[in-house]
Amino acid sequence: MMVKNLCRLTRPMSVLTELNEEITRCRLCEIGKTRTNAVPGEGAEDADILFIGEGPGWHEDQQGRPFVGPAGKYLDELLASINLNRSQVYIANVIKCRPPGNRDPLPTEINNCSRWLDRQIEIIRPRIIVTLGRYSMARFFPGKAISKVHGTAQKRNDTICFAMYHPAAALHQQSLRRVIEEDMHKIPSLLTKTADMPEAKPQPKQLDMFEV
Ligand code: URA
Repeated sequence: MMVKNLCRLTRPMSVLTELNEEITRCRLCEIGKTRTNAVPGEGAEDADILFIGEGPGWHEDQQGRPFVGPAGKYLDELLASINLNRSQVYIANVIKCRPPGNRDPLPTEINNCSRWLDRQIEIIRPRIIVTLGRYSMARFFPGKAISKVHGTAQKRNDTICFAMYHPAAALHQQSLRRVIEEDMHKIPSLLTKTADMPEAKPQPKQLDMFEV
């Protein structure tokens, strides 16, 4: 018993846990000083599917966990509709600290935080990245409009990127509910296509809207 407990105490931290701890110490932006908690992300470290939202809201800031408010409750329902739960996927955000008053993330904040999201993607190596909302979409589908690109997938660097509206959008606009639910139902079949889907053509180098 003693030995078992000792093992638990000395078990090395996973690379992702170490990274997430580093994120909680980040103070690169002003919002790193005003947050209650940083919200690195959570879920299965070897998840096939990585969901990327925009950034923490009030509930997430309070708890240090992603998607735990009303939009998160709806995300849980969407996951359940394809027989998944949050422990089987990974859920992260473009920015890891709550902008005061839930304002949109600033370009500098997105830029500063991209180092963390890049490393999370490198460690998790998901087969599918699902972007939730405009800010997350802009990173993987630059220059595209969400109204056009939602429900579509592109393969880049062996990973399928699939764009969806943000779950909060459906809470404000009932007519989007059906669209989001239909898009969610496309995900399971994408998992079977990761090997067959051709790589998207390289994107022309353009001014990154988030570069400062
Ligand atoms: N909205 C987001 O984009 N992310 C969260 O974690 C919560 C709400």
